[in-house]
Amino acid sequence: MFSDLPDKNGHFGEFGGRHVPETLVPVHEAVTEAYLKYKDDAGFRDELDYYLEHFIGRPTPLYFAENLTAHFNGAKIYLKREDLCHTGSHKLNNVIGQLLLAKRMGKKRVIAETGAGQHGVAAATGCARFGLECIVYMGEVDVKRQALNVYRMQLLGAKVVPVTSGSRTLKDAINEAMRDWMAHPDDTFYCLGSCVGAHPFPMMVRDFQSVIGKEAKAQHLESEGKEPDYLVACTGGGSNSIGLFNPFLDEPTVKIVGVEAEGAASLCKGTIGILHGARTYVLQTKTGQILNTHSISAGLDYSGVGPEHSYLKDMGRVQYVTANDKDALSGFKVLSEKEGIIPALESSHAIAHLKKLAPKLSKEQTIIVCLSGRGDKDVDEVRKLLK
Ligand SMILES: *Cc1c(COP(=O)(O)O)cnc(C)c1O
Repeated sequence: MFSDLPDKNGHFGEFGGRHVPETLVPVHEAVTEAYLKYKDDAGFRDELDYYLEHFIGRPTPLYFAENLTAHFNGAKIYLKREDLCHTGSHKLNNVIGQLLLAKRMGKKRVIAETGAGQHGVAAATGCARFGLECIVYMGEVDVKRQALNVYRMQLLGAKVVPVTSGSRTLKDAINEAMRDWMAHPDDTFYCLGSCVGAHPFPMMVRDFQSVIGKEAKAQHLESEGKEPDYLVACTGGGSNSIGLFNPFLDEPTVKIVGVEAEGAASLCKGTIGILHGARTYVLQTKTGQILNTHSISAGLDYSGVGPEHSYLKDMGRVQYVTANDKDALSGFKVLSEKEGIIPALESSHAIAHLKKLAPKLSKEQTIIVCLSGRGDKDVDEVRKLLK
């Protein structure tokens, strides 16, 4: 069964594991031990549930998109509204879980990496709430591109450190965060933003994000009296998608689609390698140099992907497809115009796939789309692109 994975060493088939320098092994082991100790602990679960409800605003609605359904004239489309979470996306589901663990481990200092700034803002938000010191590593290029999010993190009391190595973007920020963790293993917790990295992060982040799928499954059953026919979600590192997919993986009738940005399609166009501690599909040259990626949505702009997705691809359980910048912009427009909901550019990739999928299906069939975030952060970018 898919839900039994990973094994105790963090392997999803041949993917995942813990490919880190020796000095980082003990810190990963300590996080694994703490996570396994607390994940089913009643006190921990109660506290997590409290913040999911009262701080993040869960459960998020499963919204029937009536106009979008009529527009594509096929399957019924439901939106899982992660855009309504505090800070505007699914990211905080994972951050709150990890920070509650950090507190139980007695850590006072939290480090995080960020590309677009969404995970940085979520980490800074959680750290403000729990009184933890927060340091966010961010590529220098992204610091310039995402000035508003940098200021947001600063308002929340975080220190943003620009990273000047490599391509000065997300993958370099992750490398720098790992270096920091190596230098401060005793007092520091690394709050990783997606289901990537070495064991236990892909498992732990998936588990914290699975609240998306658990709610959606119950909500869909309530409205439709059956399982959905399709799930669709955008896949960057893969945390919103695995969060939605996880509770459905062992339901054989549910078909599942992950949508990558065409310019950062590790699963559709990459080869197997090792990135940031995990064996997974990576965009790399024949000699293993990591390639730079491009997408209009900074949140999908990553050269790797969570190892569980690599496994689900190879097992044929999930189908991965791509959407390009133009597709995403049309997804952005159609949801805004038809439903009065401005989606994040990341989520717009999932919306874009509906044009291909929904009209082929019957009116009795249903699709759940993960609307991973809201588009306020992207309005300026879209205005420039549409001009
Ligand atoms: C960060 C982000 C993503 C991409 O990250 P995943 O780990 O693939 O979910 C997608 N959508 C939004 C709104 C994001 O902020």
